[in-house]
Amino acid sequence: MVQSIVRNAVRGGSTADPDVLSAQYALRYFASYLVRPKGQRLYIPQGMQQISKALSDRLACDVLELNASVWRVSPPEEGCYGLEVEMPSNGITTFRASHVVFAIPVPGIAELAPWFPAWKLDAIEKVQTNPTVTLAIVLDSASKANWDYIFLITAADAHFNTVLQTRASADQVPSQRERTHFNCYLSADPETAAPGDDAATTSAWLEAFFRILPDARGRVLGTRLARWPRCFAYPAPGREKVLDQVQAPVDSAHLAGDFTSVTAGSHGALQEDGRAVREMLQASARS
Ligand SMILES: Cc1cc2nc3c(=O)[nH]c(=O)nc-3n(C[C@H](O)[C@H](O)[C@H](O)COP(=O)(O)OP(=O)(O)OC[C@H]3O[C@@H](n4cnc5c(N)ncnc54)[C@H](O)[C@@H]3O)c2cc1C
Repeated sequence: MVQSIVRNAVRGGSTADPDVLSAQYALRYFASYLVRPKGQRLYIPQGMQQISKALSDRLACDVLELNASVWRVSPPEEGCYGLEVEMPSNGITTFRASHVVFAIPVPGIAELAPWFPAWKLDAIEKVQTNPTVTLAIVLDSASKANWDYIFLITAADAHFNTVLQTRASADQVPSQRERTHFNCYLSADPETAAPGDDAATTSAWLEAFFRILPDARGRVLGTRLARWPRCFAYPAPGREKVLDQVQAPVDSAHLAGDFTSVTAGSHGALQEDGRAVREMLQASARS
């Protein structure tokens, strides 16, 4: 039973089974649940994309185009890559660029640049990603002050691994706002992460949730199920051996994201942009 509690806590947080993680990495997740640092596990009500939007708001309006999709990156000709981009403002447009940064989830890179050399394609294929399924549940928590103390529940026999109470700020007292947010997580289960019957999954998960928190029944204000097929490039065994090759640029094509970082996750991804920028500045200084 103790093993199952630890396994579920690690899997729900890190997205990987403890068997394929270093003890240090796995226990860091477990320890974070016990220590519960004040600023951790806070959520941004409008989503993680608010960080990118806030950064882009600080730039001149013609520097960034948000919500654009890149369909193809062609190999360089006369020092320039060709990018086929679908832009909200301009439809499908082809750009030429002397440097390209691939900052997309790792499984998409070989689709965009199948012409990368074999050493690079081999290295990025060795980066493991796991899927995650989440169900966000909003409850009416009027007069439910006892729920304020719940942080993490590991669900040994449920459809999901863990349930976390997420808050937008460390000082928030959910029962005073009469809304409590719980998030159920299931990781490393490709079958559930594949497209499926969302209503049926939501109702099965809600029943499992009510078995854990019976007095939540009748208080559900809203739910949102999300299936994330490429959630997290976790540091699987052997990743450190290919990390140099995963990070290395191919001519002026650079790679940056959680999959090129030592630690993985958003903290890893947010450090990798600096490495890619340094690479480009050094290349420009040499030319
Ligand atoms: C449910 C869930 C919970 C998580 N919890 C945590 C956590 O608690 N702590 C933590 O550290 N990490 C967590 N993560 C992982 C974290 O979100 C990722 O590690 C991080 O977002 C990776 O950042 P990135 O910049 O490498 O890639 P992403 O954030 O995936 O950004 C890549 C961007 O590229 C865009 N894109 C993809 N293909 C194209 C294309 N062809 N053209 C244009 N754009 C494209 C995507 O839309 C996306 O916006 C969680 C992830 C999920 C799904």
